[in-house]
Amino acid sequence: MRAVVLEGSNLSVRADHPSPVPRDDEVLVRVTRAGVCETDLQLIKGYMGFHGVLGHEFVGVAEAGPFKGRRVVGEINCSCGECPTCQAGRRSHCPNRTVLGILNHDGAFADYITVPQRNLHVVSDSIADDVAVFTEPVAAAFQIPDQVYIDRDMQVVVLGDGRLGNLCAQVLARMAKYVTVVGKHPEKLAILSDVATKLLKDVEPDHAADLVVDCTGSPTGLPTALSLVRPRGTIVLKTTVAGEQTMAWAPIVIDEVTIVGSRCGPFDRALTALEAGEIEVLPLISARYDLSRGVEAIDHARSKPALKVLIDVK
Ligand SMILES: [Zn+2]
Ligand SMILES: [Zn+2]
Repeated sequence: MRAVVLEGSNLSVRADHPSPVPRDDEVLVRVTRAGVCETDLQLIKGYMGFHGVLGHEFVGVAEAGPFKGRRVVGEINCSCGECPTCQAGRRSHCPNRTVLGILNHDGAFADYITVPQRNLHVVSDSIADDVAVFTEPVAAAFQIPDQVYIDRDMQVVVLGDGRLGNLCAQVLARMAKYVTVVGKHPEKLAILSDVATKLLKDVEPDHAADLVVDCTGSPTGLPTALSLVRPRGTIVLKTTVAGEQTMAWAPIVIDEVTIVGSRCGPFDRALTALEAGEIEVLPLISARYDLSRGVEAIDHARSKPALKVLIDVK
């Protein structure tokens, strides 16, 4: 089969990559659409030391199992189900887990991917592939209200006008009245028609926000968030940054700031919101490439001011 393979820092499209063989608890999924994510770009820079088939945002058709023949999306954490962490209900943190396209499990930039049956969610017919492919990042955005109480009157700042910042802002704007997205790109901010936006250069370090969500994927995100959050406010870190960061930690203590790491979220809630049209994702699509041009797709996401680059798998 065809696959976009990362080896070291070398990325290539293979025409003759071996098709994955599902284990007993897994199902083969024929991928129809995949999305390039910031995490993919971080992986290429060395984050997690991953090598193999990239890609964890996808929609496809189940080739076997109870959902055979139906369109599905898949949660990315493949947990063991037996360890104390899994038994305690924290399966996405299973120490034995693999993660699709991120950790010891080949991903979705390929004709086929294997996914544990329990990770699959059926996609209703009314959700197009171009929309369903956003389920994973939309779910990640819905993880924020699962972790932090969102009050209607909260002042919320979302840092970052990229794909995840956009989706987090849309989710939070349904729950809080005052959501502002801060970014560097007027053309990306302009897509957010229903949410207030500001250019980073115009933002004062006013320590006024109740909640700051860092979606920058940049080492400067957390220091900027600290300059905006109020004493005893909360910062949610939504993006991973490869490598080590140094910064002054004292302000976190002095201002008693709560810092919350936030990763994967509820797929069922994301699918419900996408089906209801509550989250607009189509304006985020800036380019699409056939799988055979997968490296170009990733280069596009890396080098151009793109929001979401899709990979069509036909
Ligand atoms: Zn992702
Ligand atoms: Zn486990």
